[in-house]
Amino acid sequence: MIRSALLLLAATALTAASATAQQSPAARMEQTVKTISADSYQGRAPATTGERMTVDYLTREFRAAGLQPGGDVVNGRRQWTQSVPLLQSAFVGDPAVTLQTARGSTRLTQGYEIAVRSPMNGSNQLRINGAPLIFAGYGTSAPERQWDDFKNQDVRGKILVVLINDPDFEGTASDDQRGDFGGKAMTYYGRWTYKYEEAAKRGAAGVMIVHETEPASYGWNTVKNSNTNTMFDIVRQDPSARHTPFESWITLDTARKLFVDAGLNFDQAKAAARRRDFRPIDLKATLGATANAQTQTITSYNMVGMLPGKRRPDETVIYSAHHDHIGVGAPDANGDTIYNGAIDNATGIAQLIEQARMFARAPRTDRSVVFLAVGAEEKGLLGSEYYVANPLFPLSKTAGVLNTDSMGVNGPARNFSISGTARLELLDRMIAAARTQNRSFTPDPRPEAGGFFRSDHFPFAKQGVPAVSFRSGNDLVNGGSARGEAISAEYTAKRYHQQDDEYQPGWDFSGMVQDAQLLHLVGRNLADSTAWPNWSADSEFRATRDATAAERGAQAPATPAEPAAATSPGERG
Ligand SMILES: [Zn+2]
Repeated sequence: MIRSALLLLAATALTAASATAQQSPAARMEQTVKTISADSYQGRAPATTGERMTVDYLTREFRAAGLQPGGDVVNGRRQWTQSVPLLQSAFVGDPAVTLQTARGSTRLTQGYEIAVRSPMNGSNQLRINGAPLIFAGYGTSAPERQWDDFKNQDVRGKILVVLINDPDFEGTASDDQRGDFGGKAMTYYGRWTYKYEEAAKRGAAGVMIVHETEPASYGWNTVKNSNTNTMFDIVRQDPSARHTPFESWITLDTARKLFVDAGLNFDQAKAAARRRDFRPIDLKATLGATANAQTQTITSYNMVGMLPGKRRPDETVIYSAHHDHIGVGAPDANGDTIYNGAIDNATGIAQLIEQARMFARAPRTDRSVVFLAVGAEEKGLLGSEYYVANPLFPLSKTAGVLNTDSMGVNGPARNFSISGTARLELLDRMIAAARTQNRSFTPDPRPEAGGFFRSDHFPFAKQGVPAVSFRSGNDLVNGGSARGEAISAEYTAKRYHQQDDEYQPGWDFSGMVQDAQLLHLVGRNLADSTAWPNWSADSEFRATRDATAAERGAQAPATPAEPAAATSPGERG
């Protein structure tokens, strides 16, 4: 009985495996998207059954593709997973927040006048007593741009009121100021995460970011929805070095009143903040806040498969994509509670698995190739954040990261793009590879929205590792950019981060096949090369990368010249 059952099992497994092998790449990718975005996967949120199922699915697929485990080492053996401990924090009831100005005291209501994040500084109690408020402009200290909003003022114990985006966004800076922050495109100094980090570094008691729809690129509802629920971060040794006790946004109305009470004018103060000679302004007010939070540690997982390089296995090229999505929430108008995340990011995962198959079936490359499916992206890029804090392969010898997050399912495109604005040689290599497919590069049309800082390549970039998120093009072979833009507008309005991001029969995966081939060419050439592509000279990530040049054995930070190879059409030049 047992014997025949085993035989039957083996035969079944063999049939399933060979069926997968015989499918076309498009059919395999469609199957992956359909499978992991099904309702049974419950929206794949961290530390849920849905994540467990996703991890099991990826283990099977990575193994079937021919990868080796590349995750944590347990008892001398590499696992398929990297454990990602996360700190979870949620307020018990709404925080009590009171502003004391010259005109009296005002209670700020959570979700309406203010959106306070549950504390991530390691404490489960929020207690702020009479902390003075100062307006710190854009809250930015950028030595490479000779810009410092703080002017050596001690801000310890104070609440910083700061503007969102960077000084170039308004575009009305005086002529001598224009361009300090590269124009309209958002630099990292414009992101809310940066403002919180800088304030924590300086020992401030907290931050109030003034919400304005245009420079934030989203309305107050988005601020409210993403800041007043359960917060997550990776478990840090010293969380207070990264988080002040009081991280918040306030509405523009709240800010205006605050300035009026101090006998100041918000718009004038804002104009002053666009100038290099800006100095912090005392708002003649104090803040009190009390709340309790419930905190606990949960475990999410990164999935890691790899193919060791035959010459320089310690050097790596990484393909990444996040496997998680939002999970289950309140029902929408149709009673649907499951955020399936078919486009975001079952498509990127399907590409990652297909990429693994392509590499596994070809001769080994000189460098190792790593396939990294990170978790907890939707909680704030936490799987990738954890990876760069605890790298499984040295970051200094990671030649490049090619990330995919939400891909096109409407057939081939005549172009491609990347998320946000970035200047690095990895993009030049993508442009060269795209040329072999007669595809052109179209820059992100709205770089001021800060797309570069909103996916998993970014934590790598912050550590100096050349990293980009590839985006399928919108100029579709069938229907042109009119059709492409209509599809993308419909997606943003009706599906993005909503229950309706669901698999639809009839999607055309042939464009993703082309995208995978493009990405393969870029990664393969890099994995067979001795080159260390870098950031452009004016990039904010360049100095961090150059600081580890010695570990790459390079005498100078400059990228070695690439040998011209007729067999590698994707190389530069
Ligand atoms: Zn995503």
